[in-house]
Amino acid sequence: MRYADGTAALKSVSMLVQRGQFCVVLGSSGAGKSTLLRMANGLVVPTHGTVSVDGVQLDARTLNAVRPRIGMVHQQFNLVPRATVAMNVLCGALPVLPAWRALLARFPADARARACELIEQVGLAPEHLHRRVSDLSGGQQQRVGIARAFMLNPPLLLADEPVASLDPRISREILSLLRTQARERGTTVLCSLHQIDLAREYADRIVALRGGAVMFDGPATAFDDTIAHSLYEVGVAPTGQDARVPVAASPATAGAKLQLQEV
Ligand code: ADP
Repeated sequence: MRYADGTAALKSVSMLVQRGQFCVVLGSSGAGKSTLLRMANGLVVPTHGTVSVDGVQLDARTLNAVRPRIGMVHQQFNLVPRATVAMNVLCGALPVLPAWRALLARFPADARARACELIEQVGLAPEHLHRRVSDLSGGQQQRVGIARAFMLNPPLLLADEPVASLDPRISREILSLLRTQARERGTTVLCSLHQIDLAREYADRIVALRGGAVMFDGPATAFDDTIAHSLYEVGVAPTGQDARVPVAASPATAGAKLQLQEV
């Protein structure tokens, strides 16, 4: 995948994710994780090669049919902060509703029943149902995000750094929830993370990216310290929320002035 400005974001990546697998795409910032996930739901179109979901190759013709079969969980939750928990979860059903229902936010009874069921399953209480999302904690908001993602019972769920803005304890709660909900439904999960410890703990399989290339692809149990060292170069990333390795300014660029010719 090469972006318009010439950035080679992914280099000869070839992978097949088995149905029901919890596959973590691991790597530091800029490794290509988001690009890979965005490719899996057609938001990024590869410059070479193809992407297939459930045997259907993604292209302009197939995208509308495939998209409702893919759930998304986002790093910043992507909820409507002023809307209630119930409304946010119900929004997960919008892709399959007739336009008039979507416009009037008139959700059918089965969608409302499913939303209630999911809200309970992700560990929220009945009193949360009519609470504004902006009044919830980060962890609770991500629970809403997970409930919304499962509304259409998608065979594939993409989670782009779902715990990057949460503390380590809540991160574990959220990843456990994601894994349990996915296992119960046989959902395939492609989840990007930058924390090695969390990847080892929750993944069935780890695909580690470095500079857009796959440098490890195997079961989480085979991802040892030597591989971890070579992924982040300076060693195993510390446990906790942000295990990214800081990038030091190189002597060549230190002090260099940025210039914008035109905006
Ligand atoms: P990650 O999710 O691992 O942080 P990304 O997939 O976001 O990595 O980015 C991979 C590389 O592609 C980075 O060098 C990033 O700057 C670049 N990139 C991402 N999106 C774009 C874009 N729209 N245009 C140009 N370059 C991009």
